[in-house]
Amino acid sequence: MKSFPENIENVKKRVEKLRREIEYHNYRYYTLNDPVITDYEYDMLLKELIDLEKKYPQFASKTSPTQRIGAKILDSFQSVRHPFFMYSLDNAYSMNEILEYDRKIRRILNTSNDSNLEYVCELKIDGLSIRLRYEKGELALAATRGDGRVGEDVTENVKTIRTIPLILQKPVDVDVRGEIYMPYEEFKRLNSVRQQQELPLFANPRNAAAGTLRQLDTTEVAKRHLDSFIYSLEFPERHDVKTQWEALNYMHELGFKVNRESKLVHDFEEMKDYFDRYEKLRDSLSYPIDGVVIKVNDFAIQASLGFTAKSPRWAIAYKFPAEQVRTRITDVTIQVGRTGTLTPVAHLEPVKLAGTTVKRASLHNFDYVKERDIRIGDIVLVEKAGEIIPQVIKPIKSERKGTERPIEIPKSCPVCHGKVGKLDEKDVAIRCLNPYCPAKLEGWIEHFASRKAMDIRGLGNKLVSKLVKKGILKDPGDVYELDVETLSKIEKMGEKSAKNLLDQIERSKKATFSKVINALGIPMVGEGTARLLGERFHDISELLNASEEQLMQIEGIGEKVAKSIVEFFSLPQTKRMIDKLISHGVTCSKESSDLNNPKPLKDLRFVITGTLSRPRDEIKERLVELGAVVTNTVSSKTNYIIVGENPGNKLTKANNLGIKTLDESELEKLISELSSKNLQT
Ligand code: NAD
Repeated sequence: MKSFPENIENVKKRVEKLRREIEYHNYRYYTLNDPVITDYEYDMLLKELIDLEKKYPQFASKTSPTQRIGAKILDSFQSVRHPFFMYSLDNAYSMNEILEYDRKIRRILNTSNDSNLEYVCELKIDGLSIRLRYEKGELALAATRGDGRVGEDVTENVKTIRTIPLILQKPVDVDVRGEIYMPYEEFKRLNSVRQQQELPLFANPRNAAAGTLRQLDTTEVAKRHLDSFIYSLEFPERHDVKTQWEALNYMHELGFKVNRESKLVHDFEEMKDYFDRYEKLRDSLSYPIDGVVIKVNDFAIQASLGFTAKSPRWAIAYKFPAEQVRTRITDVTIQVGRTGTLTPVAHLEPVKLAGTTVKRASLHNFDYVKERDIRIGDIVLVEKAGEIIPQVIKPIKSERKGTERPIEIPKSCPVCHGKVGKLDEKDVAIRCLNPYCPAKLEGWIEHFASRKAMDIRGLGNKLVSKLVKKGILKDPGDVYELDVETLSKIEKMGEKSAKNLLDQIERSKKATFSKVINALGIPMVGEGTARLLGERFHDISELLNASEEQLMQIEGIGEKVAKSIVEFFSLPQTKRMIDKLISHGVTCSKESSDLNNPKPLKDLRFVITGTLSRPRDEIKERLVELGAVVTNTVSSKTNYIIVGENPGNKLTKANNLGIKTLDESELEKLISELSSKNLQT
C-alpha cells in the first residue's frame, strides 16, 4: 500500500490542534463558565477528533480530551474523591444515529427487535451534574462532577436549594446523581438585574447555574433560586432496585424531585415519538433541556454492557439541533446604558427563531465585534442564548461581497456627544465619560440612593425612572427638593408612602462623608476610593479644591483616578449640585460625619461564619461603619465571631482559640451596650 507521509503528518497536526482547541474550550466552559463557542460548534470539534482517533489509532492518547471529562478543580472549594466514576454521556445528533445505537445494543445482547428490551427516555436537563450522599437519611455531601473522579464539595451551596431534601423520607444511606439547573424565569430575572448593573450577562441558564453553584458566598447562592432533578441511583442493589424505572420511583418516594416526563419505551418508534414530542415542547417547559437521554432499563443488562473511558454503553444522549439561523446585518446602532456603557446592537433582516421573529441582536461589546470581525452587511449566524436573548454568533465570511463595512467605535457619545473611552485597561466596555450624560441620569440617581451610598430606602428604580422622565430630578441634588405634593402626584404614591420616603431622605443627610463621596458618582471612584478620600479630606470644599498631586499622594490613588476626580470637580454642574447638597444639610465633612456616626465598635475585630438573616455584605458594612474591622480568617487577634446557620470551619478554629461567639441578637445587644457607653463618655 502506498503511504502518504505528508497527509499523515497533516492528520497528526490536525489532531494536536483539535486537542489544544478542545482543552481551551473545556477550560472556558467548565472552569470559567464563559464559553466562547456554541455547544454545537464544540461538539463538532470533539466529533472530528473522535473520528480521527478512530481512523488513525496510532494517534490515540490517554490524555486526549476524548478520554476525559473536562472540568478543572478550583482551589476555592475542598476537593472530594468520588466513590464511583461520574460518567458523561455519548451524544447522537440524528435519529439515524439513535437507530444505529438501538441496533448495536440489540446486536451485543443478541436480542431481536420484537424482544422486550426496555429503555427509559428522560429529558436531558441542561444544568450541571451533582452527586449527593445521604447518611441515615441526612444530607452529608454534595459534590460537583469535576473531572469524573474528583469533584468539589459544594454542600453548603446545595443546601440553599429548596428541592434538595436535607432529610429523606427514610433513614437510608444512599448516593444519587442529578442535575442542578436554573429555571428560565430565574435566569431572566438574574440577567435583567445584571443588565441594570451592567455586569456581564450569563450566556445561558447552564452557565448561570454553574457560576452560581461555585459562588463562595452562600447567601448569594440562596438569592438565585436554583432547582434540581435527580435521575440516577448509585449502588441500586443496596436498595433492592432492579431497573432505572424502579429507581426513579424509589428516589421520588425518598423525597427527591424526579422529572415526571420520563417514559418507558420498547422500540425505536416509541423513542422517536418521545423525541419529536419534546423537541416541540422544549420551549414551553419552565426549565432548560438540551436533548433526551435514553437508558437501558434493566440494571443487570446495563452491567453486562459496561462503560467506555468516558461514558456508559447503556445510555446515549440525543441532542436537539442548535437553534441557529442565518440572516443579514442591515445596520448597527449604539445603545448607551445606565452607567454609560456603549453597546453595539445589530439590526437584522427579520428572521424566525425559536418561535419569535428576531429583528435585533446584541453584539455585546466592541472587543466581541473585533474578535469575530463582524461587519455591517454580513450574513451572520444568530442564536438565542438560553432561548432568550438573541445574539450574533459569527459572520459567514465566505459570503462576503466586498461591500461590507466595519463597525467603528463611535468618537463621541451618541446621546450627549461627550467623550468616550475605557475606564481602565481591564474594562471591556467603551463608555460615555460625561458624568452628566442624560442616558446615565437614572443609573446615577439609583446609585446615589443605593445602600452603599446615601441608602435612601423607597427610592427604587421604578420611582427614579418616573421622576427622571417627568423632569423632576435633573441631578441627585434634586432628591432633597422633593416634597409630599410632588411625590403624591406620581402614580400610586399615596401621602403615607410619600411621607415615609421623605423621612428616609431626611435620614440620608446623616450618611458618612465617605458614603456621600461615593454617592457623587465620580467616574473611576468606587466605594473603596471614596473611603480613602473620606479619610484624607476634612470637608467637601477641601476635596473640591484638591490638586492631582495632592490626590496622588494618597496610597491607592493613581494618576488616572486623580485626573478624573479633578475633572469632575471642575465641572460647573458639579459645583451646582454640591451647593444644593450643602444647602439641604447633607453631611459634607468628616467631623459632622463622625458626630452623626459614632464608632462604638472601634478597634474590635470580627469574623462572620454561616448563613445569617441578612446578606453577609450588609452586616459587614454595618460593622465597619460602626468602627469594627471585619476579617475573613480567625486569628488570636479576633475579638468576636458572629455565627449564623451552618457555620464553617472558622467556628471550630475560634472555639479552639477561645474567641467569644455571638449570634445575631447577641450582636445587636453588644452594639447597643457599647453605643450607650460611648454616649456616656
Ligand atoms: P453532556 O452535557 O453532553 O451530557 C452528560 C450530562 O448530561 C451528564 O453528566 C448529566 O449531568 C447530564 N444529564 C442531564 N439530564 C440527564 C439525565 N436525565 N440522565 C443522565 N444525565 C443527564 O456532557 P458533559 O460532559 O456534561 O458536557 C459536554 C457538553 O458540554 C458538550 O456536549 C458540549 O455541548 C458542552 N461543552 C461546550 C463547550 C463550549 O465551549 N461551548 C465546552 C465544553 C463542553
